[in-house]
Amino acid sequence: MKFFAPPVERLIEEFAKLPGIGQKTAQRLAFHILNLPKDDAERFADAIREAKSTVFTCKVCQNLTDGEICPICANPARDRGLICVVADPKDVIAFERTREFNGLYHVLHGVISPLNHVGPDEIRIRELLQRVADEDIREVIIATNPDTEGEATAMYISRLLKPFGVRVTRLAYGIPVGGHLEYIDEVTLMRALEGRREI
Ligand SMILES: [Zn+2]
Repeated sequence: MKFFAPPVERLIEEFAKLPGIGQKTAQRLAFHILNLPKDDAERFADAIREAKSTVFTCKVCQNLTDGEICPICANPARDRGLICVVADPKDVIAFERTREFNGLYHVLHGVISPLNHVGPDEIRIRELLQRVADEDIREVIIATNPDTEGEATAMYISRLLKPFGVRVTRLAYGIPVGGHLEYIDEVTLMRALEGRREI
């Protein structure tokens, strides 16, 4: 049974499709929108429409951009032989904030997740292989998260990259800066020990 007028139901349904939004929150958001002054509601709708029609994925790295090629790929000062593979556009921002990485990125837009029915073809792995095949790439750093799906995705990609003879690396695992050894779980501590380096 529907409790609300059909347009309201439709609005609630659309909100409920967003990640992390349950039915109750969807209702709250829908009523919030209905209570907005007309101009504000239209500005919101326009922002969605404009973002959808002007934001594309970069032809090279698949990151979100408003042109054909994103500013990072277009920057001649970046090292084009080094690719850092990340799951999400937000991860690019995290690396850029460090100001340490001078290579290019490749955004997968997800990780392989059998539980969520995401297979290798659903994320941008094919585009990465094409880049490595076409361009002069020295090293591919796989920077997916160190969780089960991120690890599995990293392993899968590294296997596919082997035949290209490119150096494939994974971010080091370690103890967070400011962390205390006694509170670190044993897997992290073991990985940190394996990944130790000379000082
Ligand atoms: Zn790009």
